[in-house]
Amino acid sequence: MLNSQYTGRFAPSPTGHLHLGSVYTALASFLEARTHQGLWRLRFDDLDTPRNVSGAANHIQQTLETLGLHWDGEVDYQSWHLDDYHAVLMDLIAKQQVYRCQCSRKDLTSIYAQTCRNQHIPANDPHSLRLKTDNREIIFDDYLHGQISQNLAMQHGDFILKRKDNIIAYQFAVVLDDIRQEVNHIVRGIDLLDSTPKQIYLQQLLKLPIPHYLHVPILVDAKGHKLSKSTLATAVDLTTPNRVLFQLLRWLKQNPPLELENEKVDNILKWAIEHWDVARLKSIEQILI
Ligand code: GLU
Repeated sequence: MLNSQYTGRFAPSPTGHLHLGSVYTALASFLEARTHQGLWRLRFDDLDTPRNVSGAANHIQQTLETLGLHWDGEVDYQSWHLDDYHAVLMDLIAKQQVYRCQCSRKDLTSIYAQTCRNQHIPANDPHSLRLKTDNREIIFDDYLHGQISQNLAMQHGDFILKRKDNIIAYQFAVVLDDIRQEVNHIVRGIDLLDSTPKQIYLQQLLKLPIPHYLHVPILVDAKGHKLSKSTLATAVDLTTPNRVLFQLLRWLKQNPPLELENEKVDNILKWAIEHWDVARLKSIEQILI
């Protein structure tokens, strides 16, 4: 029976083929949703248009299908919702919660010094839009990593909602995307843990419900580098999707029995749903492959 209380999602950027690290996160998020009888949605984070690769969204869908990771409902694309992001942005501008900023990347230290907060920058000059942060702790519980606490004003400073090249920033878009898709459980890589306080800050500001968060480890190579599509070794071999799933289950610490390796994709996933125990990833940040 479907549990409308749980909606998860996978939100890749269509910047190339899925690599093992992304498929690892996709599988974890899929299994979490399915063991809760929840929905699992697919969205393409395609706002950073210069990075989009034509055909990538199709290829990603085929990869998920081949691995038996079938999503619920229609695929969603961020680029279909530009008007919605802009409408919320207008509202924040009207409430003076964002301001124009002309700092270039090289002007910036790791904590933004609010340089442009009180400057008058004409609307016609190229600028980004930055959100004012205030001096308070953002606290949340990650299912695998416990309580996380961050003071944005002290540790990051005001952050960007719209870039100078007019592109809506990921931190801002993702908050509205997850609401639109009614996502209430977010499973993603620990490399995004540092983004979560910014997103919670925005959810609080916009009076939106706060989803549950669970950050899974990232796959790293022997040098401790995160797998990325530039690492050849990570290409997903779709000729043997069952082996890929089996290997991913090992890296997810699910101890799949050896005889499962040559089973069909559907049988492997059935076993995985029956035995899934995400707590085995507790406090783990990296998996060496
Ligand atoms: N599009 C993001 C990425 O590929 C994922 C965003 C998210 O899961 O919040 O890294």
